[in-house]
Amino acid sequence: DPRLQAISDAIRVVPHFPKPGIMFNDITALLLRPAAFKDAVDMFVERYRGMRIAAVAGIEARGFIFGPAIALAIGAKFIPLRKPKKLPGEVISETYILEYGTDCLEMHVGATEPGERVVVVDDLVATGGTLCAAIKLLGE
Ligand code: 5GP
Repeated sequence: DPRLQAISDAIRVVPHFPKPGIMFNDITALLLRPAAFKDAVDMFVERYRGMRIAAVAGIEARGFIFGPAIALAIGAKFIPLRKPKKLPGEVISETYILEYGTDCLEMHVGATEPGERVVVVDDLVATGGTLCAAIKLLGE
């Protein structure tokens, strides 16, 4: 897809952030370019529209930037998957190992119903640990 190059070019790579040796892909630079930002959202919308997706689940924090835009465009609900102690209702939790440290994601009980198709959105996959935790949460 010809849009991919411009999207890739708009993501800034910051060496040694947040720790020495890590090459951090900074998507805030993409957000400053409306055309590239729109293309990034549109590509997901084109992929998932018409697939009977009931919900988009966004991983805190940068999944909250892309997830709602995709959810609104495909007519799906949005489910925030949050860091611990942020959600006020009854939650289920999943602890996981990050590229740098451990973390935990929580979801409100009842946000999804059995059989619903859910798309999980985040800005970046490194080890996949965060994404796996999100999938486990949604499967519970
Ligand atoms: P993983 O769990 O796949 O190892 O790491 C992915 C998670 O860490 C995502 O939630 C993502 O936001 C964050 N992350 C790890 N490395 C980077 C990076 O280079 N850039 C950004 N934006 N996020 C990162």
